[in-house]
Amino acid sequence: MLTDPFGRQIDYIRISVTDRCDFRCVYCMAEEMTFLPKSELLTLEELEIVCRTFMEMGTRKIRLTGGEPLVRRNIMQLIRALGAEAKAGALDEVTITTNGSQLTKMAQQLAEAGVTRLNVSLDTLDADKFTLITRWGKLQTVLDGMAAAQDAGLAIKVNVVALKGVNEDELGDMVRWCGHHGYDMTIIEVMPMGDIGNETRVDQYLPVSVVRSRLAQEFTLTDSPYQSAGPARYVTVEETGQRLGFITPMTHNFCESCNRVRMTCTGQLYMCLGQDDNASLSTALRAGGVPALKDAIIEAIARKPKGHDFMISRRQTSAPVGRHMNVTGG
Ligand code: SAM
Ligand code: SF4
Repeated sequence: MLTDPFGRQIDYIRISVTDRCDFRCVYCMAEEMTFLPKSELLTLEELEIVCRTFMEMGTRKIRLTGGEPLVRRNIMQLIRALGAEAKAGALDEVTITTNGSQLTKMAQQLAEAGVTRLNVSLDTLDADKFTLITRWGKLQTVLDGMAAAQDAGLAIKVNVVALKGVNEDELGDMVRWCGHHGYDMTIIEVMPMGDIGNETRVDQYLPVSVVRSRLAQEFTLTDSPYQSAGPARYVTVEETGQRLGFITPMTHNFCESCNRVRMTCTGQLYMCLGQDDNASLSTALRAGGVPALKDAIIEAIARKPKGHDFMISRRQTSAPVGRHMNVTGG
């Protein structure tokens, strides 16, 4: 089992399998993005070796993210391999964070591969606003994809980024809508990652503590003992019976219980989403195979920091964490 210097057991890895995406969400990317040359990406076979090595070292949960994980060519090959491990009990779970754009055609295959749960990112139920936020996305495509996923038997959690002046008036309606469809929902604060063009983080930032107290006037929110492998704190919405999570990196630091690390599609291991220190697992794997990879993982976990460096302030002109969210995934 991998244990970091602060005694936290690391049994969860999130892998960004591509930095590319078919959307350009305003808080995640600038409209003009330069993506990595495909030749720099770990191959699907290399990704599988890394996953299996982490599993040998105690990893029980793997989340694939991106960019948009489902637009990576032949990604089902990796998902089937990991899904088989989950079916055999060698992993607790293989989950995917997706924008939902590919689900109409892929949901059934995902379910057959052994995926049981998806996080779908959806910030609004208004078609025009959806296109304003995602720049390139169509709301109906995502809603159809979510319906296909539900038909295929996949449980869905909706990830909503709270955006000041954009979707703050809709969050109560979204809680009701998720309740009606049987989806759990998590509300996330904007994190200052990467430069995003003309907009600034201060303009987007809405503290989730404010969102929570507003929702508490509309709904009965009962603290839930439920704890996912992620950083959300949960309540049960008594009116709908569904769980509602809050991820509050800015207003409430969740680092003390952090059990995860993240790898980019080029094999850089980030020990913290909010720090720049990283280790090149691709270099280790390509130079010395699995033994060198294991050594590199152990050495990297020994450097996992106590907490993140996020801060949003008007004085700041550039993002404290330079890489965009699509590099390390959410
Ligand atoms: N493309 C997939 C999706 O959108 O679900 C997976 C990758 S996306 C980077 C993962 C999550 O990060 C999404 O829920 C997205 O809303 C969230 N995200 C992106 N940039 C963010 C930011 N700056 N602050 C907070 N959440 C962000
Ligand atoms: Fe793409 Fe997800 Fe980033 Fe939106 S949040 S641009 S869907 S990677």
